Amino acid sequence: MKETIKTSVEMICSVSELANLFRQGQDIRGFLLQVVQIVSHHMQSDVCSIFLYNEQKDHLVLEATAGLNPDMVGQLTLLSGEGLTGLALKELRPIREGRGRDNPYFKYIPESGEDRFESFLAVPIIRGIHRVGVLVLQDERSSRFSKSDAQALKAIASQLAATLENAQLLMALHGKNEPSATNTEASRLIRGTQVVEGVALGQAYQMEGPGFEDKLISACDDCYRTTIEDFHRAIDSTERQLEELQNRLEEELADVASLIFSAHLLMLRDEGFSGEMANLINEDTPPSDAVIHIANNYITLFANSDNPRMREKVLDIKDLGHRILENLLEEEGGHGDYSGQIILTNELLPSELLKLAAQNVEGLVLYGGGVTAHVSVLARSLLVPLLFTEDESIFRIPSNTPLALDTHQGLLIVNPDDNARKRITQLIESSDRIDELENAAMPETHTADGERVFLRATVNLLSDLKLARRLKAEGIGLYRSEFPFLIRSDFPSEEEQYLIYKQVVDGLDNSLVTLRTLDVGGDKILSYIPDAGEANPFLGLRAIRFLLENKKVFVGQLKAMIRAGGNKQIRILFPLISSLDDFLNARKIVIKSLGFLKRDGFGQFPMPKLGAMIELPSAVEMAPELSREADFLSLGTNDLVQYMLGVDRTNEKVADLFDVRHPAVLRAVKRVNDAAREANCPLSVCGIMSKDPRTVYYLMGLGVREFSMEPGKIPGMQEAVSRMDIQQAGRDAEILSGLGTQEEIRNYLDSLKIPEPAI
Ligand code: PEP
Ligand code: MG
Repeated sequence: MKETIKTSVEMICSVSELANLFRQGQDIRGFLLQVVQIVSHHMQSDVCSIFLYNEQKDHLVLEATAGLNPDMVGQLTLLSGEGLTGLALKELRPIREGRGRDNPYFKYIPESGEDRFESFLAVPIIRGIHRVGVLVLQDERSSRFSKSDAQALKAIASQLAATLENAQLLMALHGKNEPSATNTEASRLIRGTQVVEGVALGQAYQMEGPGFEDKLISACDDCYRTTIEDFHRAIDSTERQLEELQNRLEEELADVASLIFSAHLLMLRDEGFSGEMANLINEDTPPSDAVIHIANNYITLFANSDNPRMREKVLDIKDLGHRILENLLEEEGGHGDYSGQIILTNELLPSELLKLAAQNVEGLVLYGGGVTAHVSVLARSLLVPLLFTEDESIFRIPSNTPLALDTHQGLLIVNPDDNARKRITQLIESSDRIDELENAAMPETHTADGERVFLRATVNLLSDLKLARRLKAEGIGLYRSEFPFLIRSDFPSEEEQYLIYKQVVDGLDNSLVTLRTLDVGGDKILSYIPDAGEANPFLGLRAIRFLLENKKVFVGQLKAMIRAGGNKQIRILFPLISSLDDFLNARKIVIKSLGFLKRDGFGQFPMPKLGAMIELPSAVEMAPELSREADFLSLGTNDLVQYMLGVDRTNEKVADLFDVRHPAVLRAVKRVNDAAREANCPLSVCGIMSKDPRTVYYLMGLGVREFSMEPGKIPGMQEAVSRMDIQQAGRDAEILSGLGTQEEIRNYLDSLKIPEPAI
């Protein structure tokens, strides 16, 4: 090891001498070639390559190599995040692999001649906040590079950064880092941001773009051989399939699935729809043309309606037409669903998402402002990988084009080549991690020095309960009650709500259950409430404000929750509390609801424990009073960050400003925690800060011991917490809450080297 460090130091000197050469007018490519040669010589590696980053195109270009095919220089491009090299740039960290190809993100580039190289080491080249490129070593021997090699290479990269940045600028000026011939990729990459993690292979299905009609007519050679009998058979099969789908959904997703396919079924038997199709067929129109013609008439009709609820039906009609056609052409063999399809669209309603998920959609790519918080939460619970992109070209991808989706890397690959397919297939195979997580989950969570911590489940759908049970959640820290409201076309009745909440209350052995009252408004719009036309819905009639204005809905929900609790003492949580008055008014309604239940013969129920969500700066200010009045507090950190920093949580354009480690946020949570402790009021944390081991460490250091997170995160967080020392966390939290800049906080947290969960 000593040997390597010594030679590395020598090499750094040689490299800085080289940098001088460059300043004295050495040709850029010649200079870069000298650099890679000298680095590979000193590090005794078979290969050294330099990739420079082109910011405009957001890709890396191979600019010099000693060891790989020199013809690839200027030709080979990798997107940020693509392959191990792109990953080093995207995540700004060294990537060291004993065998590069074992890492699922490895991207094999046959033309580069890298077949024989096993070991892989890449370090990002960064100058200030600018990404300059990546320095890569490869070697035929496996496990060739040690940690100290990575350190040495980092030192070299930092030594070279300024000079390479100049090279990068000059090349951009002369257009020299453009690939000069055709791109080696037959496939095309579209970049985006992960909303729901996952990978998928499938074919494009355009919900907006080139359409329905073309696809179905052109896909079919046998269309004209079908008869009216085939058509009737197709209608019967479609009806059977829809009923089966509805039944299955009601078993698996009872809370949200209620009659979700009812519009399809009604439509299917409608005289104006299937009746008209039959009339056309009887007048000698080929059956498939008749289906397409009538379905398209309806699509046009609904799509042009002023009523948003009518427009929502467009997808239903498309679905239905699609199913009838598939049944018509393939008879009993038709799938009529979205298996093998990746949907490209700019908007998606929760009900549409549910239907797509029920029909086995593989993945979703959403353009523009289409990713609302509830769609992303729902997609997460339904385990549908979801990528957000601002690249409009997704609408030019014809339906049926092969696609590979890798949201971890923020990539949609159009026409993936064999290597990309292989890689995604491997990732799909390894992504079914529930068994692994279940084996790792422990019944209790403790820090390394024995402090007890409670990790509870955030539940969005009833289907999350199963996972919460398997992964040993210690109770439900947050049940978001809005999904049954969002999916239906009217308020669910008190009885319907009771049945749903009962399942939540009985869902886990652990008796701690926190039911949150309806949090609608903001971007969670109920289609059946007249559009209030709010200019700023996040600042409008949202959450508890909506309920205090709509007391019947509030009382109905509270009665259903209290009844579901039975003799158990449940916790009821009010979202978006902005004052003590809000909380006291809500508590009065709870007391009234208990009275109504008694009056209506349901009997006497225990008073639930009542909690306030701290999500607004005003609630932070009022935390001392709220802690004295409430039975518990819950920090909703998604909204707290949004409202503290004035950064819309759904707006990707300001996503970089959504900084959970902003000093104002760290101080606000500290003040809330201090107030809660002073009043002996239990405090739990949910939302984004409870998912990240670094913010959990900080919060634990403050004294927080209760967290709520999506069940899938629990085992990993358990493992991360078990490596933390509570005494040390206390000292670090004290320091962190005194730091004044985002940079200082970032650096301090980085220096603590809190590892990401290993599972
Ligand atoms: C939060 O704001 O942190 C939270 C958990 O609530 P939601 O994400 O449902 O607004
Ligand atoms: Mg919230």
